[in-house]
Amino acid sequence: MTSLDELFTAESAILQDNRELAETQGLEAEVYRDALIKLTAHYQKIMNESYRLIRRSDRAERDLNQLNERLAYEATHDPLTQVFNRSAIIDQITKALNTGEAGLILLDIDHFKAINDQYGHPAGDAVICGLIRRIEQSVPDLGSIGRVGGEEFTILLPRYTKAQSVIVAGYIHALLNASPLDLLPNQLVTASLGVSWGKQNSSFDTLYNDADTAMYEAKRRGRNRVHCG
Ligand code: GH3
Ligand code: MG
Ligand code: MG
Repeated sequence: MTSLDELFTAESAILQDNRELAETQGLEAEVYRDALIKLTAHYQKIMNESYRLIRRSDRAERDLNQLNERLAYEATHDPLTQVFNRSAIIDQITKALNTGEAGLILLDIDHFKAINDQYGHPAGDAVICGLIRRIEQSVPDLGSIGRVGGEEFTILLPRYTKAQSVIVAGYIHALLNASPLDLLPNQLVTASLGVSWGKQNSSFDTLYNDADTAMYEAKRRGRNRVHCG
């Protein structure tokens, strides 16, 4: 590794020369003047170099911040649909229950295996994304969507009452039934939705299990419907 002295060999020599000159009296003015000119040129060079290094370190800091943001996003989001991933939404549900009541909707796409079988897995992926983009319109600003399984999603509704949560679920259900998704124009893609509600400080497990039970009840009753436990 280059030592700092090696980096500044020229500057160190000039510094040394000038120290000696400063201690030597009676030389011609021209000698002092030349030394000063040389010193000024190097001083300017060092300033330019410092500016360049500051700009470079600012750029490196910006790149690092962007990388941190990207890593934080990737750690909390599902790469296919860009909604929150399982651990991030579980975290949010837990936090929501710590601060107030909350509604939870568990949504499972109906007969999704048949869609995969008929159109292939990549088309199935696109259907999942299309469905999420459709239902995003009906999730209020306070709410958030998380992917908890392959074709299973939760919609967290912080500070929502049970009745308000059922209304949101009904709206999602209606949106899916309003018209087919653009990429599957000849058939409706529907889902079964289970709704649960928990008061402040109630447990995540109870809220989630209640939504799960309600969702299975919606399946049992014929799918493409909302059930509230
Ligand atoms: P049900 O109405 O009872 O929910 O029927 P279903 O066919 O949707 O349910 P099932 O659990 O039997 O099948 C879900 C299928 O979803 C099985 C699996 O192959 C598929 N799947 C899970 N994750 C993904 C994914 O990320 N992409 C695609 N294309 N398919 C997935
Ligand atoms: Mg499923
Ligand atoms: Mg399903």
